[in-house]
Amino acid sequence: MPDPSLYNACPDLYLRSPTSHKGTHMLIKEGNVAYDDFDPSTLTRARFAWNQSKRAAGLAVQAMRRFDLPANATLIREWFGLSPKTNPAHAQKLMQVQSNLTEMERAYASRPITLVWAPNIVVKHAPADRNLPMTPVQLAGGTAFTGQNVYGYVHQHLAGSGMRVILGRWFRDDPDPQEATQTIYHEITHKVLKTADHCYGVDLCRRLATNNIAQATTNADNYGYFAKSMVGKV
Ligand SMILES: [Zn+2]
Repeated sequence: MPDPSLYNACPDLYLRSPTSHKGTHMLIKEGNVAYDDFDPSTLTRARFAWNQSKRAAGLAVQAMRRFDLPANATLIREWFGLSPKTNPAHAQKLMQVQSNLTEMERAYASRPITLVWAPNIVVKHAPADRNLPMTPVQLAGGTAFTGQNVYGYVHQHLAGSGMRVILGRWFRDDPDPQEATQTIYHEITHKVLKTADHCYGVDLCRRLATNNIAQATTNADNYGYFAKSMVGKV
């Protein structure tokens, strides 16, 4: 149980978060990470995922430095398509990924990051013309973009959104808790490395690494799975 003094009522965030329920909105700060609006059991998962992904961020840098070790070489090839030992042309890309992972480790160590529990959020698009109504955003395939349908996301184009990672229902409900670890790392790469979402999931990401190194080394999920493999089974 954290020290009660760590709890802060936060009316500013309350107004901006449509998921908040009256009187229960809490911001818990622990070092450079803050947990916003979590219930106790989901907070336990969020802490686990934060700690595991932070640990993974450090281990990922070490694995990249020792890319010659067979276990590391296998993972680097699996998720980024790079075989620097047999293909000298990959050396430059390897250095780029190394520097990206180092930047991620630094972000975990020192940048203020807020994890936001928002299972009921409905993501809406604000039209440039303010007289027009906001319209709900749809995911690929026409699914509504709501907290019920996502693991997590970050606002990439909203000024002032800072390092806020919004977490949806699947963050809590996936039977594999290390997938929550993957999600946090994935989302933070969007903020720190400006990664894209070329594709999602282990199968498509492995295929991307084989077929398109340029995209694999800029794809959030490829970084997420490389990080997850540092602390768990992928
Ligand atoms: Zn993403």
